[in-house]
Amino acid sequence: MYHWQIEGSKKTSVDDMVLLTKITEDAITDNLKRRLMEDKIYTYIGPVLVAVNPFKQLPYFGEKELEMYQGAATYEVPPHIYAVADTMYRNMLIDSDNQCVIISGESGAGKTVSAKFIMNYITKVSQGSYKVQHIKDIILESNPLLEAFGNAKTTRNNNSSRFGKYIEIQFSRGGEPLGGKISNFLLEKSRVHSLNEGERSFHIFYQLCAGATKTMVEQLGITTPDYFQYLAQSGVYKVDNMNDAHDFQETLNAMSVMGIEEDTQMDILRIVAAILHMGNITFAEKGNAAYIVSPDYLQYPAYLLGVSAESLGQKLVSRVFDSKWGSQSERVDVTLNMEQAQFTRDAWTKGLYARLFDYIVDMINQAMMTDANLINLGILDIYGFEIFGKNGFEQFCINYSEQEEYNAEGIQWKPIKYFDNKIVCELIESKRPPGIMSILDDTCATMSAKSEGADEDFHRKMESLVGTHPHYQKFNQGFMIKHYAGNVSYHIDSFCEKNRDVLFSDIIEVMQSSTNPFICSLFNDSAQTGAMGRPPVGNTKARHEAKGRPTTAGMKIRTQANELVTTLTKCVPHYIRCIKPNETKKPHDWDSQMVKHQVEYLGLKENIKVKRAGFAYRRPFHKFLQRYAILSSQTWPNWHGSPQEAINVIMATINMDTEQYQIGRTKVFIKDPESLYMIEECRERKL
Ligand code: ADP
Ligand code: MG
Repeated sequence: MYHWQIEGSKKTSVDDMVLLTKITEDAITDNLKRRLMEDKIYTYIGPVLVAVNPFKQLPYFGEKELEMYQGAATYEVPPHIYAVADTMYRNMLIDSDNQCVIISGESGAGKTVSAKFIMNYITKVSQGSYKVQHIKDIILESNPLLEAFGNAKTTRNNNSSRFGKYIEIQFSRGGEPLGGKISNFLLEKSRVHSLNEGERSFHIFYQLCAGATKTMVEQLGITTPDYFQYLAQSGVYKVDNMNDAHDFQETLNAMSVMGIEEDTQMDILRIVAAILHMGNITFAEKGNAAYIVSPDYLQYPAYLLGVSAESLGQKLVSRVFDSKWGSQSERVDVTLNMEQAQFTRDAWTKGLYARLFDYIVDMINQAMMTDANLINLGILDIYGFEIFGKNGFEQFCINYSEQEEYNAEGIQWKPIKYFDNKIVCELIESKRPPGIMSILDDTCATMSAKSEGADEDFHRKMESLVGTHPHYQKFNQGFMIKHYAGNVSYHIDSFCEKNRDVLFSDIIEVMQSSTNPFICSLFNDSAQTGAMGRPPVGNTKARHEAKGRPTTAGMKIRTQANELVTTLTKCVPHYIRCIKPNETKKPHDWDSQMVKHQVEYLGLKENIKVKRAGFAYRRPFHKFLQRYAILSSQTWPNWHGSPQEAINVIMATINMDTEQYQIGRTKVFIKDPESLYMIEECRERKL
């Protein structure tokens, strides 16, 4: 049985940290620790849920809890992620408003597990006919499929998502899930070819090696993972408590649920295998020209990709550049040196993998697609703020995309620094004067085809253009940004190359010439080829002014981030803050320093202060009146006057303390959860 507070113990923890007597980071950390030791992983800050990763299975996720949280008032039951899921679901149905939950926390803190709990809860409690059951299966099976291709073992998390996702589940007005949509962000595709010590590549590679059928072994040339250089470089093949062969079956099954035919499944695996085989092609150098050490190694990947070994080999050691001189245009074949050949091989494999991943997301989306105009519930699981020993372009992008919307609505909040994210956003994304992203794009637009000296050039330009910004600091190999979640030093290495993110047009052409229609279809993007394919060479001034500047990784991220923010601002937001209690991944192990740091950068203290000082619950006037006009005979059934006046009348009727609410420009704000419950109770008595 659950208790609202632990009885009998001298110092009790609080369920809602708004109730803490002292709001310090230590008090918050202490409260969370006390609770974790009693296996209570959930705690509220008003409507925000804090979830501590227990690193063990806890018993309270069963049928009983699924029942218990349905329609329960938050104060009657212990804090739980099901309560958040239930609130979202009910709000959506009552108000016909889109809802979203933003799950944040560092890598390994439990974001993806939380997202899955929410998806499970929603699919369990929502109604549904046979057809709806199929949509539910697709929603649930999208997880193992995306994880096979998008997750990997890192030092921080054995099942770390290496992409971000926003999943929308679309419902009928009656609450039946009828469809869904997944948007994916920022796949860390460089993991295909480069692994850090102690880490693995994406799970699917090991799954295929462990679980391949006899036919697959024969047709795809599958053997043990140590044979493949891409996997052998870290020497880590196994993950504790993970059974790759078993998971492989689940991946295949999930593909079937998505309606991916067996032939296509084989095509997908063919690409996975081709990538592994390509990784075994190695280069040496004669003079300045790269050559392939054992041309035999070209045979298998060429066969799998449906291209000739000659064209594969040729494109690995040379590249066609367009050069423009005046009105003359000429294609020049340039020999690559060893480093460039390796770079080309890796760009090729990661390009293949990224397209394959997008294809899989597309297939899931097609399986869930509905054209009905519906209400939706979204779950945002982006891979949170990351600080590694060495941070590069990927971390820069991840940390940039960590943005939250904040809408003050003209209410007198005490200004709190936590929310002052604008200045950092400007540093990164301002167009005029140019911020870091613009400077990077400018550098990429004018860099030489082989990108020599581009990173240094970018470094110099930043120094002169944003060098005096209070949140920017230069150091020898890079720059530091004072993000609101913490200071991060970024190494400048490969920023330009990764931002430019080109798959050279002649590689695309080879892929388009494949005898395998599936592979051709992945590269069937003539619209993009023009923009992204050719490295900018020649008349840079002209390119600069041309409208069709190539799309860079940075531009793509900015567009995606903006679209995401737009989507999120159209939803009623809910928040889950995940906390990782230790680095050992063991239950009941508590690292106070580590937790305190997260408490700091997740802004929990500020969250509590905002909740205490401010008005945690907000509703647009019309929504409030729709629901509560019934509370006063003056406003029900008719009212002639402004919504503001109506709200004041209602509040007076139920004797609401005037301190407890404020009326903004378009919304009414209510301070304490208790006041909101009181209004709700008055309404229930009326009905
Ligand atoms: P993130 O997505 O934040 O990087 P995950 O959700 O993948 O982190 O969680 C990392 C690991 O921690 C999981 O694989 C699981 O072993 C464990 N874990 C996280 N949350 C829970 C939970 N609520 N109960 C049990 N184990 C959990
Ligand atoms: Mg994750």
